[in-house]
Amino acid sequence: MLLVTLLAVVAVAGATPAVPRAATAMYNPDLFQGDIKGIAGQEPGKERAAILGEQYLWPGGVVPYVFGNSVNSYERSLIISAMDDFHARTCIRFVERTSQSNYIEIVSNDSGCWSYVGTIGGKQRVSLDSNGCMYKGTVIHELMHAIGFYHEHCRNDRDSYVTIHYENVQAGMESQFNKDTYWQYVGEGYNYESIMHYGTYAFSVQWGVAKTIVPTDPNVILTEAYDKLQMAQSDANQINNLYRNQCSF
Ligand SMILES: [Zn+2]
Repeated sequence: MLLVTLLAVVAVAGATPAVPRAATAMYNPDLFQGDIKGIAGQEPGKERAAILGEQYLWPGGVVPYVFGNSVNSYERSLIISAMDDFHARTCIRFVERTSQSNYIEIVSNDSGCWSYVGTIGGKQRVSLDSNGCMYKGTVIHELMHAIGFYHEHCRNDRDSYVTIHYENVQAGMESQFNKDTYWQYVGEGYNYESIMHYGTYAFSVQWGVAKTIVPTDPNVILTEAYDKLQMAQSDANQINNLYRNQCSF
């Protein structure tokens, strides 16, 4: 029995780490940059760090939301705690929908974690799959897409901060690392700590072994959005900058 146990431990230690469900839920091969379902008013290939055009922002910084029936009470409180990070540090306000025509519907029974970028008009879904997305950091990340943000590691200036190791990227997934073509600067420099930054094994051929996003600064260790508990201060500043004409402070 002891020998069997020892052999099992050795076998596990020698195996390639499995991809965490929290990562596979976020790194969807069929979605733009892994977790973007669509982009308000934009053509693919014209993406940017933050959405251009006031018409794609939420008027007044107010984002009406509803929960789908699938979202249980634990999940609701987790999502509300993520919204509280916006409320404490930015001018964005998530409010329960009453009769607003533009709103987000948060569901937990769709596949993967994803959102649209910006307000697309009418009801738009934010998917927070019960299986892999119920982390405060993941929720903040997806809600930040919904209000108009893309990914930090796809910023136009990212090559000064990270190296993308395409030789370690899964075949066909190279475009997941395309840089934003038209980059709207919203007042903050590149930040490895951004909640919009992917981790070091995103779309890797071998999770935990083959790095795909490697910081230029050797002292930096990238963490996954789902391992973060709040947005970075630079994220909060950029939200307030993007919404400076919308929000009433
Ligand atoms: Zn994302």
